[in-house]
Amino acid sequence: MTILDLRSDTVTRPTAEMRQAMMAAEVGDDMMGEDPTVNRLEQRVAEMFGHEAAVLACSCTQSNQMAVRVHCQPGDELLIHNTGHICNFEGGAPAALSGVSVRTLPGPGGMLQTEDLSGMIRASDQHFCRTRLLCLENTTNIGGGRVYPLSLLQELSAWAREHNLRVHLDGARLFNAIVAAGYSAADVGACFDTISICFSKGLGCPFGSMLIGDQKTIQQARRVRKLFGGALRQSGFIAAAALYALDHHIDRLDDDHRNARRLAEGLQALNGIHSLSETVDSNLLFFELDPALGTAVQFAAALREDGVLIGPMGGQRVRLVTHLDIPNDAIDRIVQAMACRIATGFADQPVQGKGPFSK
Ligand SMILES: *Cc1c(COP(=O)(O)O)cnc(C)c1O
Repeated sequence: MTILDLRSDTVTRPTAEMRQAMMAAEVGDDMMGEDPTVNRLEQRVAEMFGHEAAVLACSCTQSNQMAVRVHCQPGDELLIHNTGHICNFEGGAPAALSGVSVRTLPGPGGMLQTEDLSGMIRASDQHFCRTRLLCLENTTNIGGGRVYPLSLLQELSAWAREHNLRVHLDGARLFNAIVAAGYSAADVGACFDTISICFSKGLGCPFGSMLIGDQKTIQQARRVRKLFGGALRQSGFIAAAALYALDHHIDRLDDDHRNARRLAEGLQALNGIHSLSETVDSNLLFFELDPALGTAVQFAAALREDGVLIGPMGGQRVRLVTHLDIPNDAIDRIVQAMACRIATGFADQPVQGKGPFSK
């Protein structure tokens, strides 16, 4: 039985062709700036986003936190949506690694609006922390896989610049947004001081991320990367995977988005599923289970027996993520398996607890 793993797009394994590209990589000591494949990747990505420089990082958590550290001083504050990855899922890193506090704000779909931001810059006074950085996320994760329209990115960026804030984009799934919205990397690049991208989500690499920005900012980020333990040696092996992914795994993200929409359509017809994402912009899909059926953790345990893995997000909430390793013809099987489990209920599953993200 083929396992269909919808827990995250991080579960993808490198394809045979990607492995070949990795094996063939020309490598050197990246910490000495001598890995030709890393240098090629950094230059290519910087150009793609219309920026001067880029630096490879181990994970998108690391590149995000390199940005926080570079933009802020201890005691500074950043503004972010209350579902933001940087302040919810990175282990408290802004405080732990940079002495930065976060001010979280509401907004539909994990996206901020300028109305929500007005009045959120603290006055220049010894009582207050210094508001220094605005962080956005595109696509949004817990916000529902939503894609920012370019006009909103431009508006938020203009607002931030008018108020002397720096602007960082958490672009863990930025290529999903680019493919879904049809804007260019350079269009997005123009709105931000720094952008992090991730190679290990939809792009299908084993790991790797990048922080993009101007020469001076990225030079500082390189020092921070070393401090955070992320400066590697022959990282050309991973850069080769990333270069391969940029060539072959961007356009196909459209398949993942189509599959997520097909999943949503299939699930819409089932009783016992509530609050299904109304808008499926990209490859993420959320819904809630009727408590009479059982919990999300129990649903996950039942579906595991059918070879379908899902992400319980706390209590009744479930997240599904489509990706490279979920083929188009698997969608019907997934809907079928869910329909059967929902028809019979799963409250008798012996698993305990409400899941990793429960309050
Ligand atoms: C996954 C994710 C990250 C972190 O990426 P890692 O490479 O797992 O550290 C950051 N931001 C968002 C929005 C994510 O979904």
